[in-house]
Amino acid sequence: MHTSGPDRAEIIIDLDAIADNVATLKARAQRPLMAVVKADGYGHGLVPSALAAVRGGADMLGVTVIEEALALREAGIGVPVLAWLTGSGEDLTAALIRDVSLSASSIWMLEEIAAAGQACGHVAQVHLKVDTGLSRGGAHMSDWPDLVAAAAAAQDVGQVRVAGIWTHFAYADTPGHPTIGVQLAGFNEAVETAARDGLGDVPKHVANSAATLTLPDAYYDMVRPGIAVYGLDPMGGDPAAYGLRPAMTVQAAVTLVKRVPQGSGVSYGHEYTTSRPSTLALIPVGYADGIPRNATNVGPLWLGGARRTIAGRVCMDQFVVDMGDDPVQAGETAVLWGPGTAGEPTAQDWATALGTIHYELVSRVGGRMVRRYLSSVPDELPGAVRRS
Ligand SMILES: *Cc1c(COP(=O)(O)O)cnc(C)c1O
Repeated sequence: MHTSGPDRAEIIIDLDAIADNVATLKARAQRPLMAVVKADGYGHGLVPSALAAVRGGADMLGVTVIEEALALREAGIGVPVLAWLTGSGEDLTAALIRDVSLSASSIWMLEEIAAAGQACGHVAQVHLKVDTGLSRGGAHMSDWPDLVAAAAAAQDVGQVRVAGIWTHFAYADTPGHPTIGVQLAGFNEAVETAARDGLGDVPKHVANSAATLTLPDAYYDMVRPGIAVYGLDPMGGDPAAYGLRPAMTVQAAVTLVKRVPQGSGVSYGHEYTTSRPSTLALIPVGYADGIPRNATNVGPLWLGGARRTIAGRVCMDQFVVDMGDDPVQAGETAVLWGPGTAGEPTAQDWATALGTIHYELVSRVGGRMVRRYLSSVPDELPGAVRRS
C-alpha cells in the first residue's frame, strides 16, 4: 500500500477493512447493527463505505442529514436508513418517499414529520430520541412523556409508525464513568414510559462504538457504531485489541528534495531551524487538504524507512520534513497515517500529537487529495481497485 501511486497525494480506503470491521462488531454484539456513515463516511466516502458496511452485514445505516440519506438511495442502496438531524425548512417528503426513517426529539418535529407523511401519502417511520444526559439532541426527560403520548396517538391514527426509541451517551469512551449508569437508568425509565403508552415493542438502540466495544448493558435491540466501523478505537487504544483494522491510509509523494546549510529557517515564520546541514523534503499537502495547521513541528509521518516529524509550519498546500543525512528522493512516498502495521503513524498517533481526536482528522482530510478504494470485490464500486 505504500508504493507510490499515480497521484500526488491520495487517501487510500481499504473497503475490506470496513466490511470486516462491521462483521467483527456485529459478532461482538450478537445484534443487528446500524453502521453510521455520516459526514461522508467519516471521511472514507459515503457510498463506498455504506456498500462495504452492508457487505459486512450492516442491517441499517445511520446518517445525520437528509441529503446524506438521499445520496445513499440515489446510489441504489436499499437497506433501512435513519437520518437524525432534521430541522425546519427541510424537504421531509423527499426522505419519506424514499423510505428514510427520521428522528423526532420534540412534538414540533413529530408533527412536521407526520404532516409531511400525510402530504406525500407515506407513513413516516419515526425514531423517538430521549436526552438522558448529553444535553444535545433528544427530548429532555421532563418532556419525554408528552412526546411519547403524542407519538402513540399519531401512530394510533396511522400518521406515523414509531420504529425506534433511542439515546446517545456523553461519556461512553470513558468506561466506568458515573454518567454511563445514570444515562442507562434514565433510558430504562424512558422505555417504561413508552411501554405504558403501548410502545413497549419498539426496537431500542443506544450503543455507539465505545459502548459496542465495552458495554453490553447498552446493546438493547441494535448497536450503532461509527468510528469503529472505520477501524479506530474511540478509547484511543490499539484497535487490533478488538479485531478492528483502520481503513484509511493518507500518503503523498515527495515533490522536492534539497540540501540546506545548518541554521536554515524552514517554512513561514521560521518556526523550525536546521541544527546541522540537512536534507529537506517537500510534501505537497497542507491545511487546505485537511492537514491541520497545528501539526506544525509535531505531525508524524513515515518517510525513507523511518518516523519523521513535520519541520516548521504546515502551509495551505505543503509542508517540509527534515531528513538530516538520510537519503530521500523526489517521488518517494511519505505516509502520514495508516493502519500502523508497516511502521507508519496511525490516526491516533496524529490525534495524540495534535491534542485532538482521530474522528476529526479522518473526517476532515481531503481537499485536493484523491481517494482510491481497494476492495476484493471491485465490481461493487466503479473505480475501486482490486487488492493485490
Ligand atoms: C456519530 C454518532 C454515532 C456514532 O458514534 P461513534 O462514536 O463514531 O461510534 C452514534 N449515534 C449518534 C447519534 C451519533 O451522532
